[in-house]
Amino acid sequence: MPKTVLITGTSSGFGNDVAKTLAAAGHRVFATMRDPHKRHREVAKDFQSKGIETIELDVTDDASVDAAFKLLADIAGVGLDVLVNNAGVAAGGLTESFTPEQLREMFDVNVFGIQRTMRAALPQMRKAKSGLVINIGSVLGRLTIPFVGLFGASKFAVEALTDSYRYELSQFGIDVLLIQPGPFPTKLYADLRPPADGGRAGDYGEVAAFPGIVSKVLEHIFTGANAPNPHDVAEAIDKLIDTPAGRRPHRVVVGLAFGADTANSAIEPLQSQIVSSFGLGHLAKLNIR
Ligand code: NAP
Repeated sequence: MPKTVLITGTSSGFGNDVAKTLAAAGHRVFATMRDPHKRHREVAKDFQSKGIETIELDVTDDASVDAAFKLLADIAGVGLDVLVNNAGVAAGGLTESFTPEQLREMFDVNVFGIQRTMRAALPQMRKAKSGLVINIGSVLGRLTIPFVGLFGASKFAVEALTDSYRYELSQFGIDVLLIQPGPFPTKLYADLRPPADGGRAGDYGEVAAFPGIVSKVLEHIFTGANAPNPHDVAEAIDKLIDTPAGRRPHRVVVGLAFGADTANSAIEPLQSQIVSSFGLGHLAKLNIR
């Protein structure tokens, strides 16, 4: 059945592809982006030619998020069925060389951005007693490699937020799930934020050069014969939306897992156990109407 879907961060990468894939599958798509009238004008035009509606939305700005959801209610006239929290930024380098402000900026997009859109979307979904939220995490929300620590920290936070929301919203029939992509060649890497305090690298000796090694490994993955195809993420989201409520997996790893899928399977029973030991096991069951 066609759904009304809102996606954040659709000017490029996964978000752009997800918008087109879901629209082609017959869903009504509201593709949001920071600057549809100037910087992203061509993207917005392309979306319009495909019947995709665009709305301005900066996930770091409370007023922008609220205005976007108000506009959605005004023009859609119906409730939102699916929210895809996709907008994100990344940073690479020695963790100590990033300022606290840089870490704050990363969390403002990757974590607080989700909290803003959730708070905007949930009152209507709770009223409707149904809804689906898909957050884009990362395999680096389960496992850690050095030099991508800020990004990983933000994606670990997305894991906890997603689980917590899923338990709390199950009584309303609202499903909250995670896509955990491995590395894919998108603009994320071209836009990788460098450390603001590179001088801190001085004492690290040869380890200071190691972030370059991570980049080389990624380059190798992206140019190899079996390079990951970013479209797999859009396909996984399309499939999740089509899967009946109550039968959807809580986490879907897409692309190179590096063991994140094994970590998911190992943690799941422990997760159930801790929730049950607080007498809250019933919150794990989605209340479907
Ligand atoms: P991308 O092409 O750089 O897309 C990121 C999108 O987020 C862009 O459209 C960007 O828009 C938007 N964005 C950034 N800040 C924003 C803000 N304040 N408000 C609204 N939108 C904002 O990279 P991508 O790989 O498709 O990333 C999409 C998601 O996948 C992110 O959450 C990322 O962390 C996650 N992910 C990616 C990979 C990967 O290997 N590519 C792996 C794991 C997870 P602007 O044009 O305005 O900057």
